[in-house]
Amino acid sequence: MEFTPTRAAGLAALDSFLPRAGKRYASTRNHDLGTGRDNVSQQSPWLHAGLLSESEVLETVLGQHSASAAEKFVSEVFWRIYFKGYLEQRPSVWRSYCDGRDAALAALDANAGLRKAHDEATGGRTGIEAFDHWARELVETGYLHNHARMWFASIWMHTLQLDWHLGADFFLRHLRDGDAASNTLSWRWVAGLHTKGKHYMARKGNIARYTADHPAGPLAAEGLASDAEPLTEAEDHQRNPLDLPAAQPDFDTGEPFALLLHDEAASHAVLDLPRPPALVIGAARPEARSPLEVGDAARSFAQEAVHGGVQEAAAQFGCAQAEWRAQDRLAALMEEAGAKRLVMPYLPIGWTRDALWPELEPLASDGRLTTLLPELDRATWPHAKAGFFGVKKVMHSAMREAGIAGA
Ligand SMILES: Cc1cc2nc3c(=O)[nH]c(=O)nc-3n(C[C@H](O)[C@H](O)[C@H](O)COP(=O)(O)OP(=O)(O)OC[C@H]3O[C@@H](n4cnc5c(N)ncnc54)[C@H](O)[C@@H]3O)c2cc1C
Repeated sequence: MEFTPTRAAGLAALDSFLPRAGKRYASTRNHDLGTGRDNVSQQSPWLHAGLLSESEVLETVLGQHSASAAEKFVSEVFWRIYFKGYLEQRPSVWRSYCDGRDAALAALDANAGLRKAHDEATGGRTGIEAFDHWARELVETGYLHNHARMWFASIWMHTLQLDWHLGADFFLRHLRDGDAASNTLSWRWVAGLHTKGKHYMARKGNIARYTADHPAGPLAAEGLASDAEPLTEAEDHQRNPLDLPAAQPDFDTGEPFALLLHDEAASHAVLDLPRPPALVIGAARPEARSPLEVGDAARSFAQEAVHGGVQEAAAQFGCAQAEWRAQDRLAALMEEAGAKRLVMPYLPIGWTRDALWPELEPLASDGRLTTLLPELDRATWPHAKAGFFGVKKVMHSAMREAGIAGA
């Protein structure tokens, strides 16, 4: 798969996967077929970057397949929406991940044995063939199949006994689709922290079965732990009430505004702007994913997605454009273009928000920040309070509420 960070490339990839999004996806999706795979959509980098929206992917698939044939694919897309909604309501999960990661990195600095084990795992030199294969695939391609992510995370923490925060950090540094919600909560799920006491154990027979058709398969996984305990934590992550932006933001004042595109919302095309902005600003912050160096695949995908998205929006609206780099002041960029208000797609909990919020906060306090939230998130997030089942129950009504044809 060529992961070109443009909306056009995402739409073309969706179009070519479309015939396989129904029953074939449901029956083959668990197989890791290697980098030539066509049994899963590989849409996640474009979805994460906001080059495509969940709504349009769902509507396209439901335009081609019946709701029952597409049920599995639809529910996987809802896992993404569920995780985002869950993290919005439990921001302490993200804070505690960042703190745990920083503590684990400090422990690596202080302990040569740990550092060696970490280097072997991230360098694909543990001697566990399957794990080493995925470590290299991740770094080289910026993508891993879902089942490989589950096996990898399980072996990382339950067999190699490495700190899970460091594994989640390794993923975020290299995945093009690296996502604060899906990644953190999936690692916690494998650990037994998301569904408390229920962890995921990788088994060599399962790995051999689902990599049987991999060009290097079946992949061997000798010596895996069979009896690890689920991880536990002292902190109890309380749920905060959702504080969602207005459904119909007020643009009627006619004041000039700037549109902000960022790592998780790099295209204007999925937004429904009632009038053109005076300025389009791009802010890509992939380096904020981790204190360690972020890999080329993840970094360049985010940077090019935002850069290209800004150019497309400026051409479409015939307006000025600006890059907001970490050392620039947002207020100065807006002032130069005479923009009084900033409009931005919802900035979810995660590193992009952490990096940008200090300069957005004054605008929010002044009432000069307008946030746009996709209708599908608005309809779904209130149900992402605990387990996925709460969301699964309302998938179809949420899609109808969001106006998705075919739902
Ligand atoms: C340890 C671990 C870490 C993960 N980290 C990330 C991450 O950083 N970013 C990320 O986008 N996904 C993450 N996932 C979820 C999942 O593996 C990927 O979304 C999926 O593999 C992307 O490939 P695809 O687009 O071909 O998926 P498909 O199977 O074609 O599914 C279609 C879409 O549904 C969504 N989706 C599918 N499975 C899941 C899932 N289990 N959880 C959440 N959304 C899902 C994705 O947006 C995906 O693009 C992680 C899973 C695990 C087990």
